[in-house]
Amino acid sequence: MKKQYEVVIIGAGVAGLTAGIYASRSGLRTLVVEKAGPGGQIIRTEMVENYPGFPEGISGYDLVEKIKAQAERFGVIFAAGDIGRITAAPGGGFLVPAVDGEEYTARSVIIASGAAQKMLGVPGEERLTGRGVSYCATCDGPLFRGREVVVVGGGDSAVGEAIYLAKLAKKVYLVHRREQFRAAKILQDRLLGCPNVELRLNCTTAEITGEDRVTGIRINNLRSGAQETIPVSGIFIYVGLLPNTDFLKGVVKLDEKGFIVTDALMETSMPGVFACGDARANIFKQVVVACGEGAIAADSSWHYIEGLNR
Ligand code: NAP
Repeated sequence: MKKQYEVVIIGAGVAGLTAGIYASRSGLRTLVVEKAGPGGQIIRTEMVENYPGFPEGISGYDLVEKIKAQAERFGVIFAAGDIGRITAAPGGGFLVPAVDGEEYTARSVIIASGAAQKMLGVPGEERLTGRGVSYCATCDGPLFRGREVVVVGGGDSAVGEAIYLAKLAKKVYLVHRREQFRAAKILQDRLLGCPNVELRLNCTTAEITGEDRVTGIRINNLRSGAQETIPVSGIFIYVGLLPNTDFLKGVVKLDEKGFIVTDALMETSMPGVFACGDARANIFKQVVVACGEGAIAADSSWHYIEGLNR
């Protein structure tokens, strides 16, 4: 028996949870389906300092807990599930199947499936993931207390997490392939103020070394041509995001990197299907933006359903 909802939201990161709050408050019977538990990328962030309303900052985990509690308060229903191919249902609406066989129907769908961290793609990385190679400083940083680690990347994530790791580790090397960082100026300034951070700019990673555990990283300096092996026990990789949109290929329009293309009202190429948050082709990936997009997607979904009712 198919479970019927007015809105099915795929993903319980901050975009999906906010969409849930708005859809539920509009009186729509709303389901949020999530495959890996609530939170998305932000629960891996030790401290969120730029979400309005928390002058002292708030941990990513606590922020998600609060937004989820708010969604529950307004009646959002939650289910675990990995969603497969969405199709238009005969007679209107959508069929939203989960890979375990569960099937939902919805009058409108909101995709908030987020993004995952990109791998660097160098020898040793895959083999040593979980054995010194990590993509989450908040989760694994404490394991490297008093030791030497490397962070790879030059965006907000790499610089922000290098600052966090500098409080735990004896020394942090930041390896970045260019001279300039993408990270916000305030983060760059803080990084330069960390006495135990050493920069390796214009450097690419050739290899992560170690048999059973990481023993070091081999890097190439693009300017001098010199090679260096830095002995470390932990390597934290923050080289950008890949959208979680494989299940949408051939369903809605994606850009060349796989992010979902929408109009300003968050509507995808499939009428009645909306998208928000990190999976969407937007320029500024921030918690506050994801929440705003979630609110717009839910409002657009409400207008779409109202149109069907007329
Ligand atoms: P990002 O902004 O895409 O930065 C990725 C970094 O990795 C760039 O410096 C890039 O170098 C480097 N890189 C990419 N591919 C590489 C490769 N193959 N080898 C070596 N280096 C490589 O990713 P992010 O830092 O994860 O952030 C993702 C989004 O979330 C961004 O929009 C960011 O602003 C946002 N975010 C915001 C906050 C915050 O507001 N506090 C915190 C975290 C993330 P180049 O610079 O040379 O391209």
